[in-house]
Amino acid sequence: MSIAENLSNIKKLIPEKVDLVCVSKFHPDEAITEAYNCGERVFGESKVQELTGKFERLPKDIQWHFIGHLQTNKVKFLVPFVALIHGVDSLRLLEEINKQAIKINQKVNCLLQFHIATEETKFGFNLEEINEAFLNSSPDKFEGIQFCGVMGMATFTSDKQQVTNEFRSLKSIFQNLKENYFLSDTHFNTISMGMSDDFQLAIGEGSTMVRIGSSIFGTRIYN
Ligand SMILES: *Cc1c(COP(=O)(O)O)cnc(C)c1O
Repeated sequence: MSIAENLSNIKKLIPEKVDLVCVSKFHPDEAITEAYNCGERVFGESKVQELTGKFERLPKDIQWHFIGHLQTNKVKFLVPFVALIHGVDSLRLLEEINKQAIKINQKVNCLLQFHIATEETKFGFNLEEINEAFLNSSPDKFEGIQFCGVMGMATFTSDKQQVTNEFRSLKSIFQNLKENYFLSDTHFNTISMGMSDDFQLAIGEGSTMVRIGSSIFGTRIYN
């Protein structure tokens, strides 16, 4: 099936109020152009160099989301081009994004990534770490950061109940942070959860943003 057909099938399963990030990592410019011509404007990349290259070559009204694990030494290259960073998973990274954002007089949109899976390989905060960070310095102290919400990845398993529980825990983390720190902050409104294999479960548990790659673009060839 073509990218256009895949997109049309996927979009039937996503309610209007849920945002779609088309995860284009490892796919060529032509694939993005095809989705762009179907009206998509939000694309997700996981490597800084790949994102900045695509930014330069492709239409300027695309919003580029960074969804990978971000190394602190790459932050300065990413910050000028990125619409939203999904995977802010450590205080050190948050501080570096803040510093680079202030340097270029910008506020960078960020999601705090939480570790909701049982696998050790998935990055992220736990709630105590964030509470500790905000206790010493409230979110306002990060002048270069626009806190937009949370992001998480469920365990790679066929156990739907487990995946559902993990998404539910991210939703409750979001609500906890909202109540404690962002009650009157309308920017803090995003729960990024759900990928090709589990986005319907994620939407059922309150996802506001799904990140879908292979169901749109096909299998990735890593090189
Ligand atoms: C690659 C990736 C996706 C997309 O995964 P698919 O299974 O291809 O939909 C979503 N989120 C993150 C964080 C990813 O790294």
